[in-house]
Amino acid sequence: MIPTAVIEAKQSLCAQCRTRPRLGALSRCGDCVRATAEVDRQTRQAAESRVATRKSAKEAEARATAERHAALEKLGELYLQFAASPEGIRLAEAQQAELTAPRNNATYVETLEGHERDRTLVANQTAAVHHTVDGGKSWLSIALTNPRDHTRALEAARVLGRHFEAPVIRHEDPEDATRLADRAQAQPARHTFGREARSLGNRSTAPRAAGKKRGGGAA
Ligand SMILES: [Zn+2]
Repeated sequence: MIPTAVIEAKQSLCAQCRTRPRLGALSRCGDCVRATAEVDRQTRQAAESRVATRKSAKEAEARATAERHAALEKLGELYLQFAASPEGIRLAEAQQAELTAPRNNATYVETLEGHERDRTLVANQTAAVHHTVDGGKSWLSIALTNPRDHTRALEAARVLGRHFEAPVIRHEDPEDATRLADRAQAQPARHTFGREARSLGNRSTAPRAAGKKRGGGAA
């Protein structure tokens, strides 16, 4: 059995550390009360300092923004002042002159010369420019000064294609017997053997319906 005095002594001990006597009517001793108060104070202080840090970061950002604005405004003012000054007017005039003056950049001149060479080459071969409307579609074509020179014509087509940044599309001649010789032909009927008109040259005397759809393809 525990003596009453011992129980009373235990009841008067601090509820937290159970070693030191309670402080007056409180349930804890003075040391524990002070320690808890200190922890509370530190927690509050840490929270306050976090808030203060965030606040000062925001304030610093706002200050920096205001400073940037002020600097830009100042720069704008300086620029306007400079633009209105004799030096500024001279500079603006010099820039304007440079913009309107003919370009003498080497690459630019070379490009222009290249374009002029292309233009001259095609112009020298051009007899007429045809505008044809066929089946509701417009076509432009160039009649050549020497229409039988296919090599020169192809060169002109390639130059023009490059100049216009467009593909060159070659349409073969369906009447061309030399082209037909390159592929397998149906053997002529025995009774026409030796009398085949198209084996005699480029031109047949009678128009042929067959072969009109042949040809075409990129050059
Ligand atoms: Zn205590």
